[in-house]
Amino acid sequence: MDNPLLTLEGLPPFSRIRPEHVEPAVDAILAENRRRIAELLDSDPRPSWAGLVEPIEEWEDRLGRAWSPVQHLNSVMNTDELRAAYNACLPKLSDYATEMGQNERLHAAYKAVAGSDEPLDEAQRKVLDNALRDFHLSGVDLPPAEKDRFKAISQELSQLTSRFEENVLDATNAWSKLITDEAALAGLPPSALGLARQTAEQRGQAGWLLTLDFPSYYPVMTYADDRVLRREVYEAYQTRASDRGPHAGTYDNSAVMERILALRHEQARLLGFPSYADRSLARKMARSPDEVLAFLHDLARRSRPQAQREMDELRAFARDRCGADDLQAWDVAYYSEKLRQDRYAFSQEEVKPYFPDTRVIAGLFGVAERLFGVTIRELEGVDVWRPDVRFYEIHGPDGGLRGSFYLDLYARPKKRGGAWMDDCMGRMRSSYREQTPVAYLTCNFAPPVGGKPSLLTHDEVETLFHEFGHGLHHMLTRVDYAPVAGINGVAWDAVELPSQFLENWCWERDALDLVSGHYETGEPIPRDLYDRMRAAKNFQSAMQMVRQLELALFDFRVHKEYDPAAGGRVYGVLDEVRREVAVVPYPDFNRMPHGFSHIFAGGYAAGYYSYKWAEVLSADAFSLFEERGVFDAETGRSFLRNILEMGGSRDAMQLFVAFRGREPRIDALLRHSGILEAA
Ligand SMILES: [Zn+2]
Repeated sequence: MDNPLLTLEGLPPFSRIRPEHVEPAVDAILAENRRRIAELLDSDPRPSWAGLVEPIEEWEDRLGRAWSPVQHLNSVMNTDELRAAYNACLPKLSDYATEMGQNERLHAAYKAVAGSDEPLDEAQRKVLDNALRDFHLSGVDLPPAEKDRFKAISQELSQLTSRFEENVLDATNAWSKLITDEAALAGLPPSALGLARQTAEQRGQAGWLLTLDFPSYYPVMTYADDRVLRREVYEAYQTRASDRGPHAGTYDNSAVMERILALRHEQARLLGFPSYADRSLARKMARSPDEVLAFLHDLARRSRPQAQREMDELRAFARDRCGADDLQAWDVAYYSEKLRQDRYAFSQEEVKPYFPDTRVIAGLFGVAERLFGVTIRELEGVDVWRPDVRFYEIHGPDGGLRGSFYLDLYARPKKRGGAWMDDCMGRMRSSYREQTPVAYLTCNFAPPVGGKPSLLTHDEVETLFHEFGHGLHHMLTRVDYAPVAGINGVAWDAVELPSQFLENWCWERDALDLVSGHYETGEPIPRDLYDRMRAAKNFQSAMQMVRQLELALFDFRVHKEYDPAAGGRVYGVLDEVRREVAVVPYPDFNRMPHGFSHIFAGGYAAGYYSYKWAEVLSADAFSLFEERGVFDAETGRSFLRNILEMGGSRDAMQLFVAFRGREPRIDALLRHSGILEAA
């Protein structure tokens, strides 16, 4: 094959990708694409679907297949060399994308296909509509000087967002704390102690090493009896990449955030939108900023009184039962865990032995098989980036191959935190060829320690279901046109529908019988433990709700209210939002926005509300299974046909109505969250 980032078979050659290959390989593809597109536009006076859209999709796909593994490795196997190569390509890719989006001849050609009398199906029409919309959003109709400015902004933004993420990663890696006296870690469960010891050993140190990776951070905040230690770790985590805390100023995102907000605003104004929030909604289901704000304020109004009661209960419990006055942010998780234990005798630690990762994964596949009639099996011998990464194929009800995915479960240094699904390649079928989708599923679970399998908390099981829901959406699509196949072209605020939908099954007894099995005895989660877990499900659910609303309102307002004269007002807006919705105390050194990668580095800018928006859809979709049975095959197949297979080929509201029989209602979400209506 002529390009070191691509193979003949299709899957990326992970083990053979070297940082020095990246830039020349990307350069070559970009140059080829530019040449081919110019030739195409010169040679075809009467563009058609097969003559224009198909070949362009083919070339775009080739670029996507080459870049995807580089981007992925940069996230999960970060090195200085790869990071440099990755960053060297960003402005080139950004330029290319802007150039395509602003190419007037290409725009005219797409318009000609859309306006021709060529018989096109509904999905093809959607591809063309989206393309014309995106041309506009790329500034194709701007005068030349503004076009140049638009392009320069896009390029600077792609570098800034990458920089933001690097600062967070570097700040996370920069901090660790070696503990040499086990007594200092009193309260931590054995699994967390084991991880801390293993982390120390791996770095050639004796004792227990705490880091800011989530599997290390979370147990300290939840279980460590030493309040001073909790405060220290909380401060290190919550000040990452900022002007405060142990590495104050070293990886500081302050100026990066400010610049990102200014440039997004400027770019939105160039396109004629009042703010970046308005611009963001051009590709979403929500129709106006007012609709989004009304939605969030409504949820806040319904849930804040209950959140306040939950917080008051926590304070009273900490004071009366533990003698702890003056509850601070680093005490909330700790005493919440004690209260949960007291009330439900349930802890995440207690369920972990029932959730060894291999069992959970087999059970997850079993759930997908029962709901959607798919079968999933592991394929050995595929080229991967780490020996513990696995590869699976997923077959449809008819037995045909639908898609495949990589599964990378464990936290390690130089791997971005969190869990996510990403697109390795998408489905397409054209006169050239047929391609099945491939996904990356990435988690950061604690790795197996001391010969024991990796044991998951129920929260982590839920995370896995969530990401797998995204994966099914990407992989089970039957749409032939890449721009609207799978998750492509789906309105961003509807993207979380399949993922949050699938989470529901890890709360169902019948599903848990498939998912759980004690790592020593194989016994599924016992009845009484399940009952306690279920009873504890909505523990502090209103507090969690207002926490999400805080993030969503902050994100939306900071983008909507940006004013060049006043600057970003990041902390001004945050303070106002917290006064409206928050019930937990925040210390003045809290620097949450500095690490808020979703909106400053990811795709959730003025879109974090999408989680709650889509949760209305997912809860309401699940309520149909509550009516008909959680494994009702017909309802499962209907979800497969109407949502998962359709991708972005139709409007999200139409798809929802086709499945549910009516427009979404908010009551299922409130009921599932145990939030009682405010009087
Ligand atoms: Zn998600």
